[in-house]
Formats: sequence, C-alpha cells, structure tokens
Amino acid sequence: DYELVEVDPEVRGIIDKEKERQFRSLELIASENFTSRAVMEAVGSCLTNKYSEGLPGKRYYGGNEYIDELETLCQERALAAFNLDGKQWGVNVQPLSGSPANFEVYTAVLNPHDRIMGLDLPHGGHLSHGFMTPKRRVSGTSIYFESMPYRLDESSGLVDYDMLEKTATLFRPKLIIAGASAYPRDFDYPRMRKIADAVGAFLMMDMAHISGLVAASVVANPFEYCDIVTTTTHKSLRGPRGGMIFFKKDPVLGVDLESAINNAVFPGLQGGPHNHTIGGLAVCLKYAKSTDFKAYQNKVVSNCRALASRLMELGYKLVSGGTDNHLVLVDLRPLGLDGARVEKILDMASITLNKNSVAGDKSALVPGGIRIGSPAMTTRGFSEKEFVTVADLINEGVQITLEAKNLVSGSKLQDFIKFVTSPEFPLKDKVLDLQRRVE
Ligand code: PLP
Repeated sequence: DYELVEVDPEVRGIIDKEKERQFRSLELIASENFTSRAVMEAVGSCLTNKYSEGLPGKRYYGGNEYIDELETLCQERALAAFNLDGKQWGVNVQPLSGSPANFEVYTAVLNPHDRIMGLDLPHGGHLSHGFMTPKRRVSGTSIYFESMPYRLDESSGLVDYDMLEKTATLFRPKLIIAGASAYPRDFDYPRMRKIADAVGAFLMMDMAHISGLVAASVVANPFEYCDIVTTTTHKSLRGPRGGMIFFKKDPVLGVDLESAINNAVFPGLQGGPHNHTIGGLAVCLKYAKSTDFKAYQNKVVSNCRALASRLMELGYKLVSGGTDNHLVLVDLRPLGLDGARVEKILDMASITLNKNSVAGDKSALVPGGIRIGSPAMTTRGFSEKEFVTVADLINEGVQITLEAKNLVSGSKLQDFIKFVTSPEFPLKDKVLDLQRRVE
C-alpha cells in the first residue's frame, strides 16, 4: 500500500492547501469546528470498508461482530453524553448527516402532505425544517409535507410564540420543530410543549448547532420537553460529520417512535451505515463526558458573550440584543451594508464567517447580516481577550467594506466583487495589512 502523496499528489496537494487555509484563517462559521486527531484517526480507518445494513445483532451481512460492538458502544455513549436513561430514550447513530436525520424523522412520524411548523429560514431556521418561498417549495421537506413556518418578532428578535400558538391553533400541524441555524437564544421548550399538546402535535428539537452546549448543560435541556431530538455531530459537539436521532421509548400519540424511526433510517432512506463515522462519533462522545469538554463548552459561551459585548460597544446592532449560546447575528442594515459584501472583504483578510439573513430581509443572496460563531476558535485556544480582538478585526473589515462600497460604481454585488478583487482596488493594502495581522 502506498501513501496518498505517492498515489495521488494532486489530491494530497489540495488537502494540504485546505489544511494550511484552516490553520492561518480565523474560522468563525458557527456550524464549523476542528475535530480531534483521535476522531480523525477513527474516521480514516478500515471501518470504512464494512457493510452493516441493519442494527447491532440484526444485520444483513456477515462479519459484523466488531461493528456491532462499535455501534452499541456509540449508542451507549450517546445516551450517556446527554444524561439519558436508556429505559426512556433510545438513539439511532446511523444518520449520514443533519438533513437526512430530519427527513428520516418526518417520514417516520408523518404521512405525505401532513402539516409541519418550523422556524422560517430567513428568521434563523434551517432549510430542512420546511423552507419554501412564495414561488417555490425549496426544501424536500416542503415538497413532501405542508409547511407553515413560524417566525421571529422582528422588534425583539425572539421567536414570536404568541403568533406560533395562534397559527398552530388554525393550521393544526402534526409536528412542531424547535431549533435553528442562526438563533442566538434558547428556545422556550415548556411553551412549545404546551402549544404542541394543545394541537396534538409531536415536538421535535433539532439541536444541531448547540448539541455540545446541551451535553455540557450550559444551555436549556430540550430532552425534558421534546419527543424527538435530532442533531448533527460536527458542530459544537466537535465530532465527525454525521447525525443522530434520539427518541422517546414509550409510544407518543400512538406511534412507536423506536421502530418508526429505526425503520425510516434503514431501510426507509439509507443503506449501509458509515461505520468509520460511527467510530469517530463514539470517540467524540467519550470526550463529551470529560471535564475538559465541559470547560470547553463553557468557554464557547463566555467567548461568544465577550465578542457580543465588544461588537455592541463598537455600535453594532445584534439580533435579540446579545447571545446565550455560541453565535451572534449582526444586523448590518443600519450601516447601509449587507452580509455578502462584508463576507467577501473579510474572506480576503482570512476572516471566515458567513452572510446571513436577518428578519425582514428581501434577498437571501444579499442578506442584511453576518453570523459569527465561537466554537472553532475556542477549540484553537482563544479566550475572551482574543475574542475582543476578533470583534475589533471584524470591525476593521466592515469599515473597509463601507469605504469600498462608496468607491464602486454600480450597485450590484457582482460589480463590488469585481472591483475589490481587481489589481487596481485602491484599498488593497488595507486588506493585506488586516490579513497580515489576522494570520
Ligand atoms: N439542522 C440545523 C439546525 C443546521 O444548522 C444544519 C446545518 O447547518 C442541519 C440541520 C443540516 O446538517 P447537514 O448539513 O449535516 O445536513
């Protein structure tokens, strides 16, 4: 067997460049993290070679004695990581990622065209929670189920639970989904439980973004109120790319969630599980019980608060006026700016974050905000002091963007990008100076 560099120097070269990019830039994308070497070792192992359709002890292929041991260990560790009693809760660790995990839940508990309510994407929700526009059913969830998103109260930046309650009473969804991709506050699970009970709906939480924070008990615990909890494994949890579905063992609304969800995963929507991912996940879940992990998650939150405070000191408007978790959402519209232009300039200066819709936006491609997350740089050892500096560096990038926007002729995003990437861009030295200090 030969090493990658000998077999395929081209791919090796690309991986090396990406590694170098990850190393030198400020990674502030709220859904990203740096997983551990131990997790990557498991993910890059011979576990990838094995087929094991089915569940431990009930496989469709031979040779699965060690895979059974691995998946059982992973399930046990998943329940332990979230302090769940195995008599009350079960888990499926095979979902290939977050979106498939969510769709598996929908097909498990709903019939085609049943009604669902999730947080609207432009208000912080995820595509897989039923996103659609007036013109198009964008997500598969909205194609196969009838979606009526709930939204934020635009003045407070918080979920409008009163409106959710009113709409749910009329729309009578069969499933209500808590959870978001860009929401800096906790969900009010007791309130959502009440609404779900009043209309006879299942309550699911997609804790993809905050599962690490939930495991370390630094945010509210969705398991106390929800019937089903889904998650990705690669965000604040710091595992490999994958997904998990937790379900109540007792029937809910007459449905045996355990068999419905396990059957939806396989054979419903997936074939063979990715055993190398399950191996990496087991490693990550062992780490999730350590005091180190708890300290890390506490720092993710305190670092994010430090970032939020500094940004507000600098005059920025944050959606909901702050944060309780690992991310902040900055509303750039009061500056006459948008997230797309700021993302571009910051990218040129090796600051990686993403443009993001803020409630009330007209365009998803040129939205009014940026989302900034603390998990990845906390993994790299940043503390509150460094996150104050991060806010200052972002502010410099925003000021450069403002200046650049005033210099460019034409109002289209493409004109702006062409201008700032041209050799004649007059603020090039400023961007390079920022980049030098970032790196
Ligand atoms: N759910 C939430 C809340 C997310 O933020 C995301 C991704 O960012 C997903 C699900 C989907 O995860 P994946 O990209 O792994 O399909």
